[in-house]
Amino acid sequence: MEKKTENNRGLLLVVSGPSGAGKGTLCGLLRKALPNLAYSVSVTTREPREGEVDGKDYFFKTVPEVKDMIFRGEFLEYAQVYGNYYGTPKPYVMSLLGEGRDVLLEIDIQGALQIKKVFPDAVLVFIIPPTLDELRARLYKRGKDTEEVIEKRLKESTRELRIAAKYDYIIINDDIEKACGHMLSLLDAERYRSQRMDFVIDRMLDNASGK
Ligand code: 5GP
Repeated sequence: MEKKTENNRGLLLVVSGPSGAGKGTLCGLLRKALPNLAYSVSVTTREPREGEVDGKDYFFKTVPEVKDMIFRGEFLEYAQVYGNYYGTPKPYVMSLLGEGRDVLLEIDIQGALQIKKVFPDAVLVFIIPPTLDELRARLYKRGKDTEEVIEKRLKESTRELRIAAKYDYIIINDDIEKACGHMLSLLDAERYRSQRMDFVIDRMLDNASGK
């Protein structure tokens, strides 16, 4: 399923969406379907949740450590989300893209829009739940947060949905398998965008002029 064009520039895939939209599960399925898709582990100052592993789920750092990293320009993007810092380490992503690897970032809207400025051909995908009632039900069902936090997140989600139109694609996560199928289709199409295939035309023209 995983197709590789001869283009040596990796594709940067950015996935966002309200908490409870299922972006984590969807990204997990996508990574299984595309084993060569590299996942960028973010840095955060929030406390690890039960079962989270440092270096796998996040690099857990202190606020002064993150501020130092910001000062040294070590992030591709960073943002404050629900009172904590989150950032994408620059060297890892840049070296993977340079090797032609595709890279997945699962980040919030502020970060995604920063990425689009630096990498205009990054593919931004926004995952939404079928309805806001469904989102509320999912957040209560997963039982990770208090009622106060859930209501805060829902309010934030309504605001985020208004920004979703700035993304390249919106996927409704009604059925996770179907949503993953849509994601694979759009990635496939993205690889054949004329801007990503310019090297084919250049090579053809070079060969023709060499005759
Ligand atoms: P959580 O704390 O629930 O894992 O993540 C909270 C939010 O931060 C999610 O929307 C998640 O996508 C976002 N996030 C995770 N890593 C990063 C990052 O490196 N940069 C930005 N801007 N947001 C991130």
